[in-house]
Amino acid sequence: MKKACSFCGRSDKEVKLLISGINGYICEECAQQAYRIAKENLAETNAKAKSGKPQMKKVPKPKEIKAFLDDYIIGQDEAKRFLSVAVYNHYKRLQQPAADDGVEIEKSNIIMVGSTGTGKTLLARTIAKLLDVPFTIVDATVFTEAGYVGEDVESILSRLLQVADYDVEAAQRGIVFIDEIDKIARKNDNPSITRDVSGEGVQQGLLKLLEGTMVNVPPKGGRKHPDQDYIHVDTRNILFICGGAFDGIERKIAQRMNTHVVGYNSVQNVRNIDKENLMKYVVPQDLKSFGLIPELIGRLPVLTYLNPLDRAALEKILTEPKNSIIRQYKKLFEMDGVELTFTKDALDALVDEAMEYKLGARGLRSIVENVMMEPMFDLPSRKVKKFEVTADYVKEQLEKSHIQQLKAS
Ligand code: ADP
Repeated sequence: MKKACSFCGRSDKEVKLLISGINGYICEECAQQAYRIAKENLAETNAKAKSGKPQMKKVPKPKEIKAFLDDYIIGQDEAKRFLSVAVYNHYKRLQQPAADDGVEIEKSNIIMVGSTGTGKTLLARTIAKLLDVPFTIVDATVFTEAGYVGEDVESILSRLLQVADYDVEAAQRGIVFIDEIDKIARKNDNPSITRDVSGEGVQQGLLKLLEGTMVNVPPKGGRKHPDQDYIHVDTRNILFICGGAFDGIERKIAQRMNTHVVGYNSVQNVRNIDKENLMKYVVPQDLKSFGLIPELIGRLPVLTYLNPLDRAALEKILTEPKNSIIRQYKKLFEMDGVELTFTKDALDALVDEAMEYKLGARGLRSIVENVMMEPMFDLPSRKVKKFEVTADYVKEQLEKSHIQQLKAS
């Protein structure tokens, strides 16, 4: 066969380079042109795919969302159900065609009440993982009213944009977890005479953001030149999940319930109340008594609670979730060829210790970390194939560590 380009017909004498294929040739000029055509076409197809409806993974059903949460979070059934439904509705809302029947589904931001270390952040984080949307955690305590020292609430969106790699479309369907929302409660039930820049002022600032508004966010690293454009972010479809420990809210709940349970049937009602866990009776009114302004409460229509973690729950948290603390350590040791085991008594001892710190599951990690410090330092340079952690070992290691000071007095 004569050696010539199958596209332009020029022979090998007329071109600089002839690349051979299975049954043909292509010269360098035709190859370059083909590359240009391919590039242009692909760019067009990609642009088409990006415009139009947001591209999103299929949204799982509430039961599927809950089942996924069950893999990572122990207990907290009530909160899981509420969250599953709220998130499902939120994304259904995103996918609904423009309302032509006048029915517009409103946004369902969420507020979770529960003591520290019971899984609020973990719940929000796990949901974001499932949905594969940009997710960020912000701490409400860093905000002050715009114009005062501290961050103003719009900075929430800068962070969301950052995690979304400045893809505005993606950020606009993201999830923001606002932690420690209880810390911006106003200090008493009456609006204060003096300005309250870190409490009520911040709550006011959050209102618009939660409801849905267009916000101008400074570009990467702040707006360095006056002519630099802001990025416009629409918060209408961003799901806000707020969490807070609301220390002492039980007292407000008890007060309300005491004043309400009068009259017929009241004795029966009082007897049925679970006094150990008053948090489960929380209603929006209690948040107001605690110091959240009614407008803010109104924009957080889904209110749910987390249970305090008891011994059994803590023990499960150590071993059961897919990436439980114990599993993580086993894996670490496995990488050094060491089989790590914990006796039942050792697990009990770890949980006993955690109960004393009153930090929920949060204490568990630091306790295990302290116990495992020595073997993690020591074992990699020794020829050991197995290592068993016993209750005595746990106690011995904890006595040596400084962690005792953490204990709640
Ligand atoms: P908070 O309620 O204060 O937001 P976190 O969600 O941050 O608590 O919990 C701290 C850590 O404790 C988590 O990273 C997780 O490892 C563990 N944890 C807390 N609650 C649970 C739970 N219900 N199930 C499994 N792990 C939990």
